Amino acid sequence: MSADLTRVLVTEEQIQTRLGELARAIETDYDGQDLLLVGVLRGAVMVMADLARSLDRHVQMDWMAISSYGSGTTSSGVVRILKDLDTDISGRHVLVVEDIIDTGLTLSWLVSNLSSRGPASVEICTLLRKPDAQQMSVQVRYVGFDIPDEFVVGYGLDHAERYRNLRCVGTLAAGMYS
Ligand code: 5GP
Repeated sequence: MSADLTRVLVTEEQIQTRLGELARAIETDYDGQDLLLVGVLRGAVMVMADLARSLDRHVQMDWMAISSYGSGTTSSGVVRILKDLDTDISGRHVLVVEDIIDTGLTLSWLVSNLSSRGPASVEICTLLRKPDAQQMSVQVRYVGFDIPDEFVVGYGLDHAERYRNLRCVGTLAAGMYS
């Protein structure tokens, strides 16, 4: 599977080291506060699993599924809730855990949706961020890596549901898009 990559952008070791650093920052920022991690299915599964286990404190986890790319490689901007939270977030500190932010369209929508439910706070943690995301109005509090504007796979990110179980993040060889 890793032979299908043209370039590894972020190694397994870099991911784990960076998640540890983010976890220390989160522990400090939310010291003494209750914290609910909200993962966005399916891409954020790996980030959520490793970030949550890097945290030396109690956290709760819940999940949302929203539509994004389908099996193509460009953002549609169309957002639909496929699975909503099971948790009432009113009065809670919510940290949205994302795999990647590209245009930020998905996340802007998600943050305004969650904010309308009366939480104490809503912040964002993303493993990867592409350049366009820096122009979006929503502030991202925790960023793992800023990456170039290329389509990447691995560590939860797929192409047509493949490559999610790669331990690193990389770009696909042109022949793998068929
Ligand atoms: P946005 O709304 O920020 O443009 O796109 C967010 C979603 O698009 C991400 O959660 C992810 O599902 C998908 N996405 C954006 N860029 C990539 C990419 O490079 N690779 C993959 N596999 N998915 C991406």
